[in-house]
Amino acid sequence: MAARVVTFANQKGGVGKTTTAVSLSVALGRRGQRVLLVDLDPQANATSAVGVGGADSLGTYDALLGDAEARDCIVHVKDEYIDLMPSRSALAGAEVELVPAMARERKLDAAIAPARDSYDWIFIDCPPSLGLLTINALTASDYVIVPVQCEYMALEGLSRLMETLELVRNNLNSRLNMLGVVLTMYDGRTRLSQQVADEVRDHIRSTFNTIIPRAVRLSEAPSHGLSIYRYDPGGRSATAYDDLAGEVLERAGVAV
Ligand code: ADP
Ligand code: MG
Repeated sequence: MAARVVTFANQKGGVGKTTTAVSLSVALGRRGQRVLLVDLDPQANATSAVGVGGADSLGTYDALLGDAEARDCIVHVKDEYIDLMPSRSALAGAEVELVPAMARERKLDAAIAPARDSYDWIFIDCPPSLGLLTINALTASDYVIVPVQCEYMALEGLSRLMETLELVRNNLNSRLNMLGVVLTMYDGRTRLSQQVADEVRDHIRSTFNTIIPRAVRLSEAPSHGLSIYRYDPGGRSATAYDDLAGEVLERAGVAV
């Protein structure tokens, strides 16, 4: 069966897209699922978060522009149990370079198509915008997961994101489904976190039961190039993302 493709999207920066995409990839990889993580953000945070550097290696940019085959743009990250299509800063130019292209919204879909049979999941980490890169991700996807930070104004921007999903569904990709909203950076000591969590649950039925706590370890791990499963194995963040992995498998109807 072909991989389920999931985009992590929210045009707000710093809400936990990359942390969630990376941690969930590794959680599922450790459960024996075959996962490809596609870093579609020119900032390359997901790439460095699993310890992959190499500014000049082939990656998402090359696959997207059709300059290389997907399989040549993928590296195996053995210690994290995943494969990665790395990003580099050149990807920032892709948004402009793709403008004159035919079917420019479908470039990523075409680029990853040959890899779909080799994985159970393909996860796409998006930049903080609803530009052409994110549209490409949504056009290639079966599902979208939306991380929402448990902070003031959490719901701001979500209606625009939902409108964008609807536009993509109606014009480019009728397969696209919302898998769920993930509440991130929850601080149980503050009333604000609790209020925001309640408010988001009231507004968005698909909110996952698992809440990701605010945890210093989770913010430290990327600077060591390690996922939370290597930086703080058995810690509460690793447990939370594993719980989320369980919910994702269940919602996607995967029997394990
Ligand atoms: P995005 O990809 O949406 O911009 P990130 O995943 O990069 O967001 O998260 C933004 C910052 O917050 C990063 O420095 C990250 O390490 C940190 N962070 C993410 N999730 C948590 C969390 N649950 N607890 C503490 N820090 C977090
Ligand atoms: Mg990010």
